[in-house]
Amino acid sequence: MNGSIQWLGFAGMSLVVVAYVPQIVHLVRARCTGGVSTWAYLVWSVSGALLLAYAITARDPVFISLQAYQLVATTSIYLFSKRHQGEPCNVHCGTSQSHRTETVAMERMRG
Ligand SMILES: [Zn+2]
Repeated sequence: MNGSIQWLGFAGMSLVVVAYVPQIVHLVRARCTGGVSTWAYLVWSVSGALLLAYAITARDPVFISLQAYQLVATTSIYLFSKRHQGEPCNVHCGTSQSHRTETVAMERMRG
């Protein structure tokens, strides 16, 4: 691969890394599964494993890094949400004002 454009791939990958942070931080800190689709993260984990295998055979360092990260992130979210399923925090129960503020902020970050 042309090394001069490889930085584009790593720049895109760093955005993916940053995008998962709010979800993972909230899951770990609050042990809250509010708004997390366990099914979607399971499917993303399986797809991450398949795409990582493909990236390794294609010997593409950007996709290998990206898929390795995605596999770890989605599998962690899946396992954590499965473990704490049905345990929303006060924020996601809709009982606090900070809930609305945090939810709006998270939705803005997700686009
Ligand atoms: Zn929550």
